[in-house]
Amino acid sequence: MVNQVVPLALPTGVAQPTDADVVIIGGGIMGVSTAFHLAEAGVRNVVLIERGELGTGSSAKPLGGVRSTFSDPANIALGKRSLDAYGRFGERFGVDIGLRKVGYLFLCRNEQEVLDCERSGVLQNDFGSVNRMVSPDEALAINPFLNKDALLAAAYSPDDGFAEPAKAVAAYAAAARAAGATLLTGTEALDIEVGNGGIKSITTNRGTIRTNAIVCAAGAWSRHVGQMVGVEMPVTPVRRQIGMTRQRATAYPTVPFTLDLSTTMYFHNYNNGMLVGISNQNQAAGFGRDFSHEWLPEFNAAATICAPSLVEPDLEFGWAGLYENTPDHNALIGASDKLPGFFYATGFSGHGFLQGPAVGELMRDLYLGRPSFMDPSTFSADRFIDDSALVREVHII
Ligand SMILES: Cc1cc2nc3c(=O)[nH]c(=O)nc-3n(C[C@H](O)[C@H](O)[C@H](O)COP(=O)(O)OP(=O)(O)OC[C@H]3O[C@@H](n4cnc5c(N)ncnc54)[C@H](O)[C@@H]3O)c2cc1C
Repeated sequence: MVNQVVPLALPTGVAQPTDADVVIIGGGIMGVSTAFHLAEAGVRNVVLIERGELGTGSSAKPLGGVRSTFSDPANIALGKRSLDAYGRFGERFGVDIGLRKVGYLFLCRNEQEVLDCERSGVLQNDFGSVNRMVSPDEALAINPFLNKDALLAAAYSPDDGFAEPAKAVAAYAAAARAAGATLLTGTEALDIEVGNGGIKSITTNRGTIRTNAIVCAAGAWSRHVGQMVGVEMPVTPVRRQIGMTRQRATAYPTVPFTLDLSTTMYFHNYNNGMLVGISNQNQAAGFGRDFSHEWLPEFNAAATICAPSLVEPDLEFGWAGLYENTPDHNALIGASDKLPGFFYATGFSGHGFLQGPAVGELMRDLYLGRPSFMDPSTFSADRFIDDSALVREVHII
């Protein structure tokens, strides 16, 4: 039974192949990074299907924070590998993705947060990332918007920053096509045929593709893809919103991507304005993506404590998108034990842009059955069968 079918006008141009070695569902950062890494490694007949346009799902929504500031070693490894890859994007793809290494500053307002940040800083340094604790005075010097009296300390990582996801998606898509992959837009996965213990074909609004391998990179919509093959993909969509203040005649002082651990309030520069947001607690799960101001009261309450001059920000516009949350707010990366040929890279729970390059590498190596730069088993979807090995990550919102 197919749910949520959206009739699409058939696109003209590239024909849908009848056979593929691997079909990737989803044309966000995960799908295009995976397509590129597979095609670059010599996998022939890589087909990516995207029901809309490339990069118009959640990957259209961040002003892409990129960082290796995490507490779980596997997340640090993904963040560091991706940060390095984004740093080399210009050289590798000839594309400027607007990477700005303004740093990340995580605000600590209780003893537990200080302990957590101290511990994760040591781990990050072991991975070769630069992270150090700073005093309230130093935090204020780095970010003059802060109320230093509210802080016990902060964790500062100067090599982190933000970049533009649309440019990264376009660069991977162009490089994947150049390496021989077929990327189809306006093409929706409707059903997947399974038989003889494996995958047989996938049916889209343009016809059927015979294939033995599928990568689910369908972001917030992944649960439905899993249902097509009877594999549980525990991904829940949650609306998250960003506000942009009016552009000023002169820029605000440049500040790091600053995030309050206690409330999840965050802000950083956007040209001459400021980008502000919070993962507000009163947001119910669902696919709605209308922009509203329902998050503002929580943002204002947090700003009153941490950065009083940002209370009632002078908003000019904003937008809403979906976090693709898993129960422990960490990714699902792996291959199904129950259904050979079903791979997944989804559930990034609001930090998928920054993990995109590394996850593309992991998916390539999982598909090719070879060791990778790290062991991805931490992120297996099986951890939710008995909740025995959930990932505890401090630096996510
Ligand atoms: C407001 C906001 C701010 C964020 N800020 C950051 C940040 O600062 N840093 C960061 O790293 N991350 C951030 N994120 C999270 C990040 O955007 C996501 O984790 C990431 O984009 C997920 O990429 P994806 O490729 O998995 O999913 P998506 O980009 O959503 O791609 C999935 C695609 O699958 C397609 N699809 C679904 N079902 C089907 C089907 N049946 N057939 C064909 N196509 C299908 C969809 O159309 C979609 O385009 C933010 C997210 C939001 C909403």
